[in-house]
Amino acid sequence: MKAKTKLIHGIHIGDPLTGAVTVPIYQTSTYKQEAIGKHKGYEYSRTGNPTRNALEDMMAVIENGHAGFAFGSGMAAITAVMMLFSSGDHVVLTDDVYGGTYRVMSKVLNRFGIEHTFVDTTNLAEVEAAIRPNTKAIYIETPTNPLLKVTDIGEVSALAKAHNLLTIVDNTFMTPYWQTPISLGADIVLHSATKYLGGHSDVVAGVVVVNSEELAQDLHFVQNSTGGVLGPQDSWLLLRGLKTLGVRMQEHEANAHAIVKFLQNHPKVTKVYYPGIENHPNHDVAKKQAEGFGAIVSFDVDSEETLTNLMERLQYFTLAESLGAVESLISVPSKMTHASIPADRRAELGITDTLIRISIGIEDGEDLIEDLTQALS
Ligand SMILES: *Cc1c(COP(=O)(O)O)cnc(C)c1O
Repeated sequence: MKAKTKLIHGIHIGDPLTGAVTVPIYQTSTYKQEAIGKHKGYEYSRTGNPTRNALEDMMAVIENGHAGFAFGSGMAAITAVMMLFSSGDHVVLTDDVYGGTYRVMSKVLNRFGIEHTFVDTTNLAEVEAAIRPNTKAIYIETPTNPLLKVTDIGEVSALAKAHNLLTIVDNTFMTPYWQTPISLGADIVLHSATKYLGGHSDVVAGVVVVNSEELAQDLHFVQNSTGGVLGPQDSWLLLRGLKTLGVRMQEHEANAHAIVKFLQNHPKVTKVYYPGIENHPNHDVAKKQAEGFGAIVSFDVDSEETLTNLMERLQYFTLAESLGAVESLISVPSKMTHASIPADRRAELGITDTLIRISIGIEDGEDLIEDLTQALS
């Protein structure tokens, strides 16, 4: 089955009870038991809910994994994955990881004894050098936010396997439509489903897909024990969003290519970050491991004045955090998404005060370029 078909037929169509073509929203907390312990497979909705389970099954199918798990946010999903580890365990992570991931590792999970090292995971030697006797996993985000660095998932997975470590991939930016890390050797894939999977800026959610029954049982135990589950209504919204993931990603991609070309040729734009650009340092890796390059683009402008003018004049790019939805969004990482990262660390990573990140939507590409032209003029 090809990707677009999977998004429609990945799970069975037709509710067994009524034939409903869409999965019903099972807005229930509990389930009637015929006798003590005799039930239809559902006891309590934290443990299992048919609408959430349908979403979890669909995610497992499209990520080529064994089982899926849905959470109340991307951060809840990431935290649940980290709960697979114990006090004294160590995780190696991508250095310019999502701000919330940096925060939960360095300000919350550290208090429970889960140790971490941030390294440039595009450099395999750095990853290997960071591995300690107590290391349990390599966690990569690729491409990264906001500098779009791309890590070789296959190489990192092979290194992890050689050291008996898990490979965890945050696949939020690419989505399974363009990139399936489990097929490249990863053990666990996770998403902020708030972004492209939902795709309409109307739901906050997180998803994890694992590649084995052992990990599935361990993660279900964590999900049920810690309880950060996604509700049935939001699960349904995600199921709906997923059906158009393929067509949306293709439109996002086409617009991204046109806008990158425009930005590269604009005198007030000093640098463009996009893995689809041939001289992007990780272009070859991006091309090898994914079917597309995505639609998150960052660029640096020549002055704070240009940045301010751009923010004030743009009509179709909404100033907002988040990304991956149908409407184009614009943000200034240093003051928004990455404000929780200390200033000296931001400078180290190359996140300047004039760096702008855009999430390119699915409006008409010509309108978007016209808008950028007038706002930069
Ligand atoms: C948004 C985001 C997260 C966090 O997800 P929430 O749904 O906001 O909790 C994690 N990773 C990446 C790459 C993100 O963009």
